[in-house]
This record gives sequence, C-alpha cells and structure tokens, in this order.
Amino acid sequence: MKLKFCGAAQTVTGSCYLLSTENSKVLVDCGMRQGSDKKTEFGEDKFAFEPKEIDAILLTHAHIDHSGLIPLAVKKGFKGKIITTEATAQLATIMLPDSGHIQEMEAEYQNRKNLRSGKPTVEPLYTMDDVKKSLEQFAPVPYKKIVNVTDDISVRFVDAGHLLGSASIEITVNEDGKEVKLAFSGDIGREESPIICDPEFISNDADYIIMEGTYGDRDHGVNSDEKKRTEFAAVLNAALRRGGNIIIPSFAVGRTQTILFYLRNLIDSGEVPGLEKIPVYVDSPLGIEATNVFESCGMGYYDEETKALAKAGKLFNFENLKFSRTADESKSLNITKERQIIISSSGMCDAGRIRHHLKHNLYRADSTVIFSGYQAEGTLGRLLLSGARKVKIFGEEIRVNAAIVQIEGFSGHAGKAELTEWLESASKKPKRVFLSHGEADVLSVFSQTLKDRGFAVEVPALLDEFELDANEVQIAQMEKVEKAYKLENFSLQKKKLFKQAERIASLLEALNESDDELTGLKLKIMEEDLKSLADKWKNILNT
Ligand SMILES: [Zn+2]
Ligand SMILES: [Zn+2]
Repeated sequence: MKLKFCGAAQTVTGSCYLLSTENSKVLVDCGMRQGSDKKTEFGEDKFAFEPKEIDAILLTHAHIDHSGLIPLAVKKGFKGKIITTEATAQLATIMLPDSGHIQEMEAEYQNRKNLRSGKPTVEPLYTMDDVKKSLEQFAPVPYKKIVNVTDDISVRFVDAGHLLGSASIEITVNEDGKEVKLAFSGDIGREESPIICDPEFISNDADYIIMEGTYGDRDHGVNSDEKKRTEFAAVLNAALRRGGNIIIPSFAVGRTQTILFYLRNLIDSGEVPGLEKIPVYVDSPLGIEATNVFESCGMGYYDEETKALAKAGKLFNFENLKFSRTADESKSLNITKERQIIISSSGMCDAGRIRHHLKHNLYRADSTVIFSGYQAEGTLGRLLLSGARKVKIFGEEIRVNAAIVQIEGFSGHAGKAELTEWLESASKKPKRVFLSHGEADVLSVFSQTLKDRGFAVEVPALLDEFELDANEVQIAQMEKVEKAYKLENFSLQKKKLFKQAERIASLLEALNESDDELTGLKLKIMEEDLKSLADKWKNILNT
C-alpha cells in the first residue's frame, strides 16, 4: 500500500492524501489551495493523480481547504462516492455551491478584463453543474460505524471536535492477507469548544497516523470555556470604549456560529455593558445558511449544554441579531452612522464582503477589527495582524488606524499540548507519525517535540510517497518520479526565501514613524547590510 501527500504538505491548505492498494485508490480530502498555497503545488487546477481512477473520497470535514476541489475532481471524471458524516454532507450542500458561485464570478470578472485587453477567455475552475453532480455523489455515514469502502478498505469516522460533523478517520487496509491500519486526524478541535463535542481519540491500533500540526509549535493561552468568554468580553469592552464599529472577519461556517454563541452568552450575562443595544449583523449569505444548518441538523452533534439551549430556542437568538443577505443590504451597512458589529467573511480577508467593511473601517481610529482564526501566509488578514500600517484593498491604499486585535480562545484547532495529548491517547503507539497541515517551520518544531517523546516522525514534502507495510517499521520512501517535482521543489524553496524577505518588510511596516536618531542609524545599517547581501547573491547566482 502506498500513501502519497498530494496537498497540505508543509503548508496549511489544500489537504489531500492518496491511498493506493493493489486494487483500489482512495483519497482522503480533496481541499482547495488558498493564500500563497495557490502558487505552489499544481497551481489551482491540477491534481497529482488521475481523478477517473479514484474509487472514493473520504471527507474529514466541510471546510473548503478540505472539500473545495471535490467538484474539480468530478469535472475531471471522478465518479465514486464521497463518504463523510451526515452533518458534513449537509454543510457541503451550502459550501460547495458557494464555492462554485465564487469560481463562476471570478472567471466572469477575469473575462471582462481579458476582453478589454484582447486576451483569451478563461474557464472557471468549476461550475455550479459540477457542484450539483458532486453533491449527488455524497454518501453519509454515522460516526463510529465500520463501513466498507472498497473490497480491501474499510473505514470508521470518529468525532474530531473541530466543526459540526468533523471527523478523524480510522482506516483498515487488507492487502495480500495482511492488515495495515491507519488513522487520519483531520483537523483536531479543542476541548470545551462551544456547541460541538470534544475530540475523540483514535482507537483502531493504527500503525500509521497522519495528523495535522497547524498549531504544533505553540499553545493557545486560552483554553477553558470561562477563559474564552472572559477574553472575548475584555476585547469587546475595549472596543466599546474606543467608540466605533466592531468588524469581525470570520469563517462563515463554524466560527460565525461560535461568535454568535458567545455574543448571546455575554448579552445574557451582562459582562459587556451596552452590548445588548448594539445591532449585530451577520453579513454573509453562507454564514446565514450555515447557522440554519447548525440549528436544523445539530441535535445529534451538539454537546449537552448546547442541546439544552437549543431546546429552549436560545442557541443563536438575541434581540439585536440581524442578517444581511443581499449585496444592497451589505452596502447599506457602510452608510449607516449607527455603531454596529459586523461579522462577515472571508475569515482571512482574501475575498468576500469583509473587504468592503475593512475598506470603510480600517482608516477610522475608533473602529476595532477582531480576528479570531488562523490567518494563512499571503492573506490580507495576516498582513494586518503583522502590523501593516497601510494596505491595499480594491486597488486603493488604506491607512490602518483601527485597533487590530486577535483573540486566541476561539481557535478551532488544538494547540501543541492538545495535539500531543491526542496522539498519546491513541490506543497504540504508531510505527510512524506523518505530520501535515502546518507551515514548514511549525511542523519542524512539532516534529522535534514528538521525537523527544519517543515517536518516529516524518514531515513529508509535497508529492512524497511512502510504501506502508504492517511488518516493516522501516518505511521505504518512494522515488519521486513526477517531473513536476523539481520545479515544485524549487518553488517551495522560493517560498521560503520570500518568507524571509517578507519578515524584513513587515519589520519595516511595523516601525512607527519616528525621527528618532537611533532608529535612523539602525535603518542605515540595515540598508547597507541588505544592499551587500543582495550584491553578494547577485554575483553568486549569476556565476
Ligand atoms: Zn478545518
Ligand atoms: Zn484545515
């Protein structure tokens, strides 16, 4: 049996793993590449495998970085079942059409530009038709039930506590009379997350565990439900004192509902005086639909506290909660003088309505922008959090005067200690742990932590393929046959170089405008250093 890393290798988005046995080929996740990940790997529109040959896709959860390229696989000939939980299948019925719509809109926009400049037209990555076909291929299964996927592969989904319906997947492969067991963590959630249940541990005696490491190098300081509430309350109180609007970029599915849950909670408890009077807008059609799905199919997935609230009809409801569906409703939010809280997406600010709200609020010193989720490299969200004083939105330069705050508590991803606990709680120590879904430097720190605790760890690069055998502790790393690899490897290298250059740029961005003599001197030295570094490498690379 072979395992190939077709995405999220030393990066966070684009989760996709190919499991091949003698008789079958199964994908775990088929996620979209976002932020700077779009420029690496295969670009946006190619796969490291032939979709026609795939027998089934096992989907850990509905987030687009795990599910977003399913319609592209279908467009390219994938005809098998998409096996996942009921709640994930429900969420996919809103998320994939939303993504299909974005693909069509983006191609249309690009084509208007291409028409004017005489360039050829482009096709959308996939269309609504491809999305419709994909949705017909979904085959939901309950948690904890063993399901045969092909003649030689069976699976069992367990709750990963990351998003409604999210799962870790235990897999058993029977090949040549031998049994090999694997477990894919999916995205691992956190204990005491509101609404959903806590993550479950793997119990299939997996020989190989493929796990995420998004926050493998750090712990979230804020873990308990109580601390999360206190943290959010403190940030809201400070924002209210500042006086202006509160803008919350948020993933439409999952995070938006967490924020609504805590807002209602804080309004009820009175910990943020005045909060009850401020209108709260969910400005995201997808966020609104997702809230409906959470309300309609949640019962089987809720934790106990949430079940009680849902029965009382109090889950996401409060008096000043308003939903803005249409583009006009969204625009009108930027005209009203009344102070408001706007929850909008995308969560990383790289697309969507949130960009309009940022454009209208970043320059205002009384506004507050509250980030509550992971901001991938190369996104506007990351830039703002790294302290940029000016940003470009819709081609316009916007000065950042608003307060930019990050709250830690709402992260849907386990931190370092929680990830380690999850792995150590597995029913058997695996022969090898493969780390993915994390930036290279983060995974290298996490890998060391796990090695220190006695695990054998691998941090695969994109397209690395491994031969896995139940009896062999040693893993034969396959030769990388793909021609593309060298090029891709080069672009990964370039990415690392750009990251260093970006670090310098963000140091400069974060620098306050000061005519302080010492700062001037430091900058002069830095300038000379950089100049000689650039000259030196110009010579080396040219020879
Ligand atoms: Zn996720
Ligand atoms: Zn993810």
